[in-house]
Amino acid sequence: MGGIYIYSDRTIMAAELIGFAKKSGKSANVITFNETAANEIAQYGADQVYVFKGDSPLAENYAKAVADFLRNERAELFVVGATARGRDIAARVAGYLECSLLSEVSTIVLEGGTVSTTRMVYGGAVIQSEAAAGMAVVTIPSGKFEAVQGGTSEVAIVSVKADDRVSLLESTPIVRSEVDLSAADKIVCIGLGMEKKEDMQLAIDLAEVLGAEIGCTRSVSEEKHWLPNYIGISGLTIRPSLYLAMGVSGQVQHLVGVRDSKIIVAINTNEKAPIFNGADYGIVGDLYEIAPLLTKELKSTNAG
Ligand SMILES: Cc1cc2nc3c(=O)[nH]c(=O)nc-3n(C[C@H](O)[C@H](O)[C@H](O)COP(=O)(O)OP(=O)(O)OC[C@H]3O[C@@H](n4cnc5c(N)ncnc54)[C@H](O)[C@@H]3O)c2cc1C
Repeated sequence: MGGIYIYSDRTIMAAELIGFAKKSGKSANVITFNETAANEIAQYGADQVYVFKGDSPLAENYAKAVADFLRNERAELFVVGATARGRDIAARVAGYLECSLLSEVSTIVLEGGTVSTTRMVYGGAVIQSEAAAGMAVVTIPSGKFEAVQGGTSEVAIVSVKADDRVSLLESTPIVRSEVDLSAADKIVCIGLGMEKKEDMQLAIDLAEVLGAEIGCTRSVSEEKHWLPNYIGISGLTIRPSLYLAMGVSGQVQHLVGVRDSKIIVAINTNEKAPIFNGADYGIVGDLYEIAPLLTKELKSTNAG
């Protein structure tokens, strides 16, 4: 009874939210609709994992069952991974519970029955602080908390009645990039300073020698269509140990997605580019010269 309840359709996000619950000194209780996911999540130190089972394949159809369950359990807070499905379920559950919904928060503190959060608004220009007393639903993007490693939890099956007003007629898989940037340890990020798609090979070579994944800005993804996913406020939040930006100006909408990186390195020809304000190491120079030099140097260091 009481404690924090968690839902995410992505295991790693559920693990991060378990990290938040533990950090808050509360019990971490995860709700899922999938038994395989439940067994994975059970490895991340939750106090309890509940698998909701009913006769609908649509997670959204269990929103009322989740709300009833949270009410019975006297949950203090329902935290949800801010994926498309998570946001959908969060809104429905908050509606059924008639409680506050705080969305896409950057920071969150639960103290004395009140949850206090901050989040970026107006494209990152303003930080909005919100507080809600009593039960609330909060959506949290990935990368805000450290996942708890280890510990096994009990998995309990809960038979529930699904809402049958919406049914699944057909499903078509979305083709996504294989790479999960939000879980990557090192990222080489390309911006519009890169002139042609073929030039991405410079970033690929550097990434290979670093053991990094390739990311990009929204402009590269949405204007050039070179990569499917981008980093930033309207894209992915990352927290790698190394983020190396080449030809990225560092507008605030991009930077809010990278600021949890441990080390930020930037290569840019413009010494006044905003990326340098948030960088630990800055190289004022042409990526077409610097990237091959770095790759060569790292290769010889690795070989030695
Ligand atoms: C509501 C809203 C949400 C947004 N969300 C996001 C988001 O989530 N993520 C995101 O990335 N953007 C987002 N944007 C867009 C953002 O404002 C910027 O326009 C975008 O990030 C810029 O991308 P860029 O750095 O690739 O390009 P540019 O801003 O064009 O920067 C290119 C940089 O490359 C440098 N350069 C040029 N040639 C070289 C060279 N040879 N070597 C080295 N450097 C060179 C230039 O000096 C320049 O600084 C959003 C915008 C809005 C309005």
